[in-house]
Amino acid sequence: MKYENNLDFALVQDERDILRAYRSQYLFPKHENLDMLYFTGNSLGLQPVGVREALIQECDDWAKYGVEGHFLAKHPWYSYHEDLAEPSARIVGALIHEVVVMNQLTVNLNLLLISFYQPQGKRRKILFETKPFPSDQYAFASHAKLHGLNPDDVLVEMQPRNGEVTLRNEDILAKIEELGDELALVCFGAVNYFTGQFFDLKSITEKAHQVGALAGFDLAHAAGNVPLRLHDWEVDFACWCTYKYLNSGPGSVGGVYIHDSHVRNKELLRLAGWWGNNKKTRFEMKPDFDPMITAEAWSMSNAPVFSMAVHRAALVLFAEVGMYELRNKSVQLTGYLEFILAEVQKETGQKMQILTPKEADSRGCQLSIVVEGSDKSLVAELFRQGVIVDWREPNVIRMAPVPMYNSYEDVYQFGVKFTQILKKRIGKS
Ligand SMILES: *Cc1c(COP(=O)(O)O)cnc(C)c1O
Repeated sequence: MKYENNLDFALVQDERDILRAYRSQYLFPKHENLDMLYFTGNSLGLQPVGVREALIQECDDWAKYGVEGHFLAKHPWYSYHEDLAEPSARIVGALIHEVVVMNQLTVNLNLLLISFYQPQGKRRKILFETKPFPSDQYAFASHAKLHGLNPDDVLVEMQPRNGEVTLRNEDILAKIEELGDELALVCFGAVNYFTGQFFDLKSITEKAHQVGALAGFDLAHAAGNVPLRLHDWEVDFACWCTYKYLNSGPGSVGGVYIHDSHVRNKELLRLAGWWGNNKKTRFEMKPDFDPMITAEAWSMSNAPVFSMAVHRAALVLFAEVGMYELRNKSVQLTGYLEFILAEVQKETGQKMQILTPKEADSRGCQLSIVVEGSDKSLVAELFRQGVIVDWREPNVIRMAPVPMYNSYEDVYQFGVKFTQILKKRIGKS
């Protein structure tokens, strides 16, 4: 697409956008009675309109039925999580029985590491990407300690080449090869939260398997953002949160994927609870754990219905739109933001650097931008002008035009405001 920096162009693109109707399915924060320009769906997705009613439904059913709501509620609580597996599986490219919705992201990562990080002999290293989300690194370190190992000996953070900020796939594969029989697990953020780099999960998984290691991914910034085919790529496990691109509310329930070959293995070590037990005998309350042969075997507790009600309402929109259409729009819209940023640089003379890779295959919708010589006050000024982006120390602005609800006009208007702000700042200095 040939982009133009004018309002007419943006409006024509919005007119042609087959997802344009979905914008009105989300609630935007307001600035002077107008929708804000919201670009932080990578951090907390907007509230779908249907959420309020979904929550009221559960409140009403609880009032009406009490404990009988487990079976009599409109969406019976006993099996509440089961309906969420199918729409979630579509988003991450999994078979339905490979997915379970439960707990929250870091809790799930820790649970999965119990099963999939089992160091033995010299095979005990965990390879992860440069600048991982700290929570993931804390989890890796705690599992090293759980096995009596020193985290400094087993945690391997993959570094970029000198002068580069993102990783080259060929270097990742070479690193896996080099670690060889010392490597127990590769566990990357599939889309890195800081740079927005989307890794090639297929080749990383393949290479990990070649050297006898497992491959798991944190999909916090990938689920609902980029196309995934976890099952076909033979990824061993993955987990994600649902409050970022999946718009399911602050701290909402998380998702887990475990490959078919593992869910069938009843001997696999895991932390067990009654909700993972064979449904037929669950209420016989027997002392021996009999795991289900689905990813549900990892779930320990009964469904947290209120956060799942929000997630359910949010997933309805993904089921309607599908990842294919979302991705098509996403590639175009993020390309437009990249173009607009170049225009802003031209107009203001302000130097900027985009840390996120240029190739569409290597990123989702987020761009991570360094505005030379700026600090946090730039983001605060944008906020005062009705624009929400986020700031990550030491000097990075992250922003994500989300295809589900952001428009070309949003991106265009951002460019106008950003130009004004930068001109004023440069004038002052
Ligand atoms: C957002 C995010 C988290 C947050 O973890 P919670 O357990 O949901 O608080 C963890 N890891 C990554 C990579 C993230 O992007």
